[in-house]
Amino acid sequence: MELRAVKGMNDILPEEIGRWHRLETTFRRVVELYGYREVRTPIVEPTQLFVRSIGEATDVVEKEMYSFRRHDDDLTLRPEGTAGAARAYLEHKVHAREPVSRWYYLGPMFRGERPARGRYRQFYQAGAELYGEAGPLCDAEMIDMLARFLQQLGLHQVEVLINSLGGPTTRQRYRQALVDFFTPRADQLSDDSRRRLEKNPLRILDSKAASDQALCAEAPSILDVLDDDDQAHFDGLRRYLDVPKTPYRVDPRLVRGLDYYTRTLFELRGTGGELGAQNALGGGGRYDHMIRELGGPDTPCIGFALGLERLLLAMEPEPIAQAGWVYVAPLGEAAQREALRLATELREAGIEARVDGRGQKLNRMLPRASSSGARFCVILGDGELERGIVALKDLATHTQEEPARDRLLPRLRELLGEDAR
Ligand code: AMP
Repeated sequence: MELRAVKGMNDILPEEIGRWHRLETTFRRVVELYGYREVRTPIVEPTQLFVRSIGEATDVVEKEMYSFRRHDDDLTLRPEGTAGAARAYLEHKVHAREPVSRWYYLGPMFRGERPARGRYRQFYQAGAELYGEAGPLCDAEMIDMLARFLQQLGLHQVEVLINSLGGPTTRQRYRQALVDFFTPRADQLSDDSRRRLEKNPLRILDSKAASDQALCAEAPSILDVLDDDDQAHFDGLRRYLDVPKTPYRVDPRLVRGLDYYTRTLFELRGTGGELGAQNALGGGGRYDHMIRELGGPDTPCIGFALGLERLLLAMEPEPIAQAGWVYVAPLGEAAQREALRLATELREAGIEARVDGRGQKLNRMLPRASSSGARFCVILGDGELERGIVALKDLATHTQEEPARDRLLPRLRELLGEDAR
């Protein structure tokens, strides 16, 4: 049997990892400037955590979770990061220690969706959660933080969509308005949407089926049924978004796949076409009732998650930076020992070095050095050892010099410094 990675789960090879690191470093740098600190929670959580927080009638919980039983516990590979972070926040009684907490996370999530370009069964998310602030000022600030992060990545073809889902009473009213609207038109709905009409009518608005979409365009708008407090919150969000001039579009039919949202909801969509149907780069919203529903005190919260694979698909491929590392080629036993010493010295000085340990002749080692991607090759043979020198080949310029052994490090620094200038 041929062993392969699980369908929809990808390897990220060292040759691709540079872009990932850049993305992750940029994310950390931007959110830390806004006061967020990293949290790491387990990848496996009790299944009930997701059922209770994400909602039983969502696609994620109904059919996409990787759940299993082990040692009499029902467990699930996390399909998203908000529920685990909320569990940790509550378990460690963080609310009793600080009034406002800003957390971020980076890591793999698991959903058994049908794989496609930009849609995987293991995928990576970067997300953030803000606990203890009811908004709307911090909602606008979070959306602005996201917009700035995307700018730093050089992603300009992105649209920010916002909506309000109101509080529970508004939601209830809107739910009824949708049932009243769709019930007499049920025969025009897709099978999936007909099923949702009873269980979770808001999800109909998220349907990708063309016939559903046409009907949804005529459905009542939630923005027409917001109560006064919801309305004031939404107006506030729009006012604050205008301060940093974050461009956005109000989409009254924006809903998201998880049930826990209240009031502010937002989504970032790539408009460059690279992503096809999977153009949602990330999104989030308020979930003011989750902490209480999980057994904690009333704690307003807002958060978002971004899909890293989709961001990478939307980002420009980058030129590969010329690596400034040194290939050390020793000829013979004595030179090999000296090569180990020399490589250690280089690494202590912060210069990457790799020793060719095969102990072959120079005419075998040089081609390997040339094709390795190294910038320099240091050749050490008996002759060089006797004379107290090394042969230093610059593989980029194809020049060679013979500095004294103890001049090698300053000379390398000089040459690498020229590169940096
Ligand atoms: P969600 O947690 O559903 O709000 O999704 C947030 C973001 O995660 C989406 O906008 C996508 O960028 C990404 N995402 C969600 N599901 C997948 C998936 N199956 N494969 C790749 N990325 C995903």
